[in-house]
Amino acid sequence: MKLTIESKNKVLYERAKVISKEILAPRAHVYDREAKFPRENFDDLIREGFTCLTLPGEYGGPDLYSDPVTYVMILFELSKGCVNTALLLHMHNSITHFLITLGTSDQKKHIADLVNDGKIIASHGGESGTSTQWNRKLDTRAELVDGKYVINGRKVFCSMAGEADCYTLWVQVGDDWDVRKSMCFLLCPADHPGFTIDNKWNSYALRGTVSHGIKIENVDVPANCLIGKGGDPIRVDITPKFGLGYAAVYLGVGAAAYEWALEYSRNRRLKPTNNPISSYQPIQRLLGEMKIEMEKALLMVQRAAWTLQAFGAEEAYPLISAAKFSASEASASITDNAVKLAGGAGLLEDHPLERLHREARSGLVMPPNSEKCLDTVAKSVIEKNPEFAGTP
Ligand SMILES: Cc1cc2nc3c(=O)[nH]c(=O)nc-3n(C[C@H](O)[C@H](O)[C@H](O)COP(=O)(O)OP(=O)(O)OC[C@H]3O[C@@H](n4cnc5c(N)ncnc54)[C@H](O)[C@@H]3O)c2cc1C
Repeated sequence: MKLTIESKNKVLYERAKVISKEILAPRAHVYDREAKFPRENFDDLIREGFTCLTLPGEYGGPDLYSDPVTYVMILFELSKGCVNTALLLHMHNSITHFLITLGTSDQKKHIADLVNDGKIIASHGGESGTSTQWNRKLDTRAELVDGKYVINGRKVFCSMAGEADCYTLWVQVGDDWDVRKSMCFLLCPADHPGFTIDNKWNSYALRGTVSHGIKIENVDVPANCLIGKGGDPIRVDITPKFGLGYAAVYLGVGAAAYEWALEYSRNRRLKPTNNPISSYQPIQRLLGEMKIEMEKALLMVQRAAWTLQAFGAEEAYPLISAAKFSASEASASITDNAVKLAGGAGLLEDHPLERLHREARSGLVMPPNSEKCLDTVAKSVIEKNPEFAGTP
């Protein structure tokens, strides 16, 4: 099992660490406080080439889904600086990868041109009346009329609503309610007048994702905006890859809390000895637990990434679920411990801990949520193999 960064991508990885510390981290609290899309971060990431991470080499990108260990490590580092930015960047890079994988050669080129031109692509499946994680039957419908798809419906939790340049809508095409035949991706320009954004986003965490609801009324797009075929959005070798990157993103929150707590414990000194609190045994115990939680989960994420590369997405699916579960649960536990370690200071808005503590909770419910991850892992051992696929 090879868990190291490929040498050709080392420069990107090292650059991600610098961008995270010097550019993303200083702005993170602003996007959180103002529930604002991290536009300045995206301008910088576009300029640095990070919105092209998954473009294949023939379109000028580093094709990082062919080196998923590096891909997840880059997301992990970026997320330490700003989880909102890392999460949205992953959504854009992953949907770009899915659309290019599924598209015709003309569609591949069109999507690559958009991305190379600095455009941002969002992915919107969520609806209020159905669960995209479980039952998946959608109410948003597209009908082919005179060579165009006409779309009507309503989407909820639409990250980058009003900010992305294109929305990839998950829709039902036609009357067949078997989603393996009728659920499709439609790539739509975000400036179509048939989109109305409700601007109601005001959340406890992930505030910078600006995940408003979107009403879709008679949005008509040319037939070649349908990418792939029926069932593609729920293909086991396609969309579970979202979960791998999300695992790295949510673990980045815990890692940021751990790093902050370590630094804080070295610098906080109390009378009468004026020794740093890191010299106290209960504080050392908390630091030890946090470090172990983080390293365990990181190994799970890297192992799932390696399995994806070595055996493909279908084989990696249960491990991706296990990694997402471990990463978000670890982050929740690490941020709990970080607040205990810091004491009252952990509650102050002057420090990043209260924000990281909230963001870590969101990792538990973001798809695939912890219950769905456990369900996938359990089914993989009950119905298929006694072992995870891809065991090294
Ligand atoms: C900040 C944020 C940003 C998001 N951005 C996007 C985005 O850009 N695009 C997008 O497509 N989606 C996005 N999502 C939406 C996400 O995909 C979910 O659709 C949304 O969170 C609602 O689904 P849920 O499972 O959380 O809740 P619900 O669907 O309301 O389900 C409630 C609970 O019931 C459980 N449940 C439901 N059905 C079953 C079942 N059959 N069996 C067992 N348990 C079940 C769920 O696991 C959950 O615990 C975002 C969500 C958040 C919070």
